[in-house]
Amino acid sequence: MRDSRYDLLFEPAKIGPVTAKNRFYQVPHCAGMGWLRPKMAAAMRGMKAEGGWGVVCTEWCSIHPTSDDLPHPNAALWNQDHIRDQALMTEAVHNHGALAGVELWFGGASSANHYTRETAIDLTSIPNLAGHPYQTRAMDKSDIRGLRRWHREAALRAKEADFDIVYVYATHGYLISHFLSARTNRRSDEYGGSMENRTRLLRELIEDTKDAVGDRCAVAVRYSVGGDDGESTALTHERRDRLEMLAELPDLWDININNYYQEMGVSRFIKEASLEEHMSFVKSVTTKPVVTVGRFTSPDTMVSQVRRGIVDFIGAARPSIADPFLPKKIEEGRPENIRECIGCNICYTGDGMGTPIRCTQNPTMGEEWRRGWHPEFIAKKTTDTSVLVTGAGPAGLEAARALGQRGYQVMLAEATRELGGRVARESGLPGLGEWRRVRDYRLGQIDKMPNVEIFRESELSVDEVLSIGTDHVAIATGASWRSDGFGRSHPYPLDTLTSGANILTPDDIMAGRMPDGPAVVYDDDSFYMGGAIAEKLRRAGLPVTLVTPENVVSAWCEYTSEQYQVQKNLLELGVKIETAYSLLSYDGSDVMISCTHTEHQQAIKADALIMVTARQPNDELYQALNQRLESESQTLFRSLRRIGDCEAPAIIAAAVYAGHRYARELDTDPDPDVPFKLE
Ligand code: ADP
Ligand code: SF4
Repeated sequence: MRDSRYDLLFEPAKIGPVTAKNRFYQVPHCAGMGWLRPKMAAAMRGMKAEGGWGVVCTEWCSIHPTSDDLPHPNAALWNQDHIRDQALMTEAVHNHGALAGVELWFGGASSANHYTRETAIDLTSIPNLAGHPYQTRAMDKSDIRGLRRWHREAALRAKEADFDIVYVYATHGYLISHFLSARTNRRSDEYGGSMENRTRLLRELIEDTKDAVGDRCAVAVRYSVGGDDGESTALTHERRDRLEMLAELPDLWDININNYYQEMGVSRFIKEASLEEHMSFVKSVTTKPVVTVGRFTSPDTMVSQVRRGIVDFIGAARPSIADPFLPKKIEEGRPENIRECIGCNICYTGDGMGTPIRCTQNPTMGEEWRRGWHPEFIAKKTTDTSVLVTGAGPAGLEAARALGQRGYQVMLAEATRELGGRVARESGLPGLGEWRRVRDYRLGQIDKMPNVEIFRESELSVDEVLSIGTDHVAIATGASWRSDGFGRSHPYPLDTLTSGANILTPDDIMAGRMPDGPAVVYDDDSFYMGGAIAEKLRRAGLPVTLVTPENVVSAWCEYTSEQYQVQKNLLELGVKIETAYSLLSYDGSDVMISCTHTEHQQAIKADALIMVTARQPNDELYQALNQRLESESQTLFRSLRRIGDCEAPAIIAAAVYAGHRYARELDTDPDPDVPFKLE
C-alpha cells in the first residue's frame, strides 16, 4: 500500500460547500474537444476521475455566443443542449467520486467569433488579440449588465449540469483581465480608474455566481499573480494587492501567471514547480484553499508543496494527461509506475489546430471514447503466438511493452547498445533531458515482464529475422535525416551541393560529429530540431547561422507555445538568423541562399552545412522481408508490419501511438476503413 509520507495528499479537503476526496486537482485544460466533441470529452475527463483525481475540470467554457473561440474548440454552456452535453462529463466524473469543475469563460477581444458571427465586446474597441482583422465593440453600462446576466445564467446552467465547482476566469488576457489592468482599463466610470473600480466587475461576478449557485457549488477564481517575463514590479504588486482585497471572497483560488509560455512552458525552458517563486505568498493572505500548477510528477515535490504551505491542492493539467492514473499509482504504493510528463507540449498542439488532444507519453489520450482505449488496461492475447519487434525506439519500446502487457511472448531486438532510438539521441540536445522519460517508463515496465526479452547490439538481417521464427514481426527501425537537400521547400534532392563539402545532419551532430568552424543550419523542418541543433553548435562555441524558409524560427513551435522562447534564446546566444530564405547551393565554403519573396541572394561563409530537412524511413529490412514474403510459397510468418518512423517519419507521439496501436490490434479484426467511432 501507499507510503505514509504521501498520506497528506489523500486527505479530503473542503472547497466552500463541497469536499474533494483528496488533493489531486485537474485544473481546467484545453483538449481540442469542447462543445464539438462532448462524448470524447466526457470519456477523457471520466478517465481522470477513475485514475483518482479528486477534482476534474472542463476546458474554458463559453458563457454566451459573443464569446466563441472556434477553430479552437472551447466548451460552452449557451443553452439546454449544452447542459445535456456537459452533464455527460459531470456524470462520468461523479461515477468515480470526483468533483466536476467548469471554467466559465468570456474571451472579449481574444475571440473573433468566426463561428457565431456575433460582434465581440471588450472594454474599448480594440483589435482582435489573436491577430484576426476584427475589432470589438466598446462595452457600455448595458453591456456590462448584459455580461453579468450571461455569466449568472451560465452559472445556473452549470449547476443544472451538476457541476460542483464554478469558475470566474479572470486571467490569461481574456475580458475580465482587461478590466483589472490599469494599462488597458482607461474607463472614467465606476469600472475604471482606481484599483477598486477596475476590480469591480470581478467582484460583482464572484458575488453574482455565489448568489446564483453558491448554496451547492463552490466558486473558484482563476487568477494571475504576475511575475511574467517583462512585467513591471508595479503591476505585479497591484495583482498581489488585489488578491489581498478579494482574499476571502471566492471558495478557492486557482493561481497561475499570465503568460502561457511560462506557466505551461516546455521542459526545454521551464522545470517542475516553476511557479512557486511567484505564488508562494498566496496562502499567507487568504484562508481559502489554493491550487496551482507546476508540471508536478514527483509525489515528494507534491507533499513538500502542501507541507510548506504553498498550496492545498496539487493542480495538474499535463501530468494528468500523461498519466490519468497518477493519483492511484501513488495511493497504491507504486509511484515508480507513473508515466511522467516530458514537457513537450504536444498535448497543447490540438488546441491550436482545432483537433483532439494527443500525448507523447500516453497514446490512449483522446482515444477513450472513440476507440475504447484505457490507459492502464488492455485486452489479454487471444492466441499463443510470439512477436519479434525490431528496433527499440519509441515505437518498438511501446509495442513491446503493450504486447507484453497483453501476455505475448516478445523478443525486442535493438541494433545498438543503447535503447530508446531517437529519444535517447534527442534527449542529449540542450534542454531536452526529460524526454528520456519516454524510454525509461517503458523500460521500467518491460523490466517486470518475464515474457519480454531485450536483445541489445542485435542488428538483424533478413535471414536472422527469418531464423528467429516468431509468428509475427514488427519492424520499428526508425528513420534517418537526409543530407541531400530534399525537404518541404525542395521536394527533390539538390544537385547544387558539391560532393566532398562538409554536409552534416542532426544524426551526425547527435552522434558527436561536430563541425570545426562556422556552421549554417538549414531548417526546412520548422519544428524543434533546427533550433536545438543551432543551440548545441552555438553552445560549443561555433559561429552559427540558422536559415529557414519560414518567417520565424521553429515555426511549428507556435503550437507547442515555445516558438517565442526558441527565437529569443537563439538570439541571446548569438545565433545569426536568416528567415524567409531557402537553400540554393553549397560548395564547401559558401552557402548560397535565396529570399523566398524576392530574387535576392546572399552567400554565407561556412565550414559545414547542417541539413534539417526531411527524414528517410529505414525500411530496407521491411522491404526485403516483404519481398521474401511475396516470393516464397510457404508462409514465413503470420504477419509483417512496419511501425513508427520506419513507416512514416513523424513526431515521437506518433511513433508511440503506432507501437501502441500495433499491440492493441494484434490478433483482432479492426474495421480497416474507419477503425473508431465517429462523434
Ligand atoms: P521510432 O521513432 O519509429 O521508434 P527510432 O529511430 O527512434 O524509431 O528507433 C529505431 C531503432 O531501431 C533505433 O534504435 C535503431 O538502432 C534500431 N534499428 C534500426 N535497424 C535495426 C535492425 N536491423 N535491427 C535492430 N534494430 C534496428
Ligand atoms: Fe506531457 Fe508531452 Fe504528454 Fe503534454 S504531450 S502531457 S507535455 S508528455
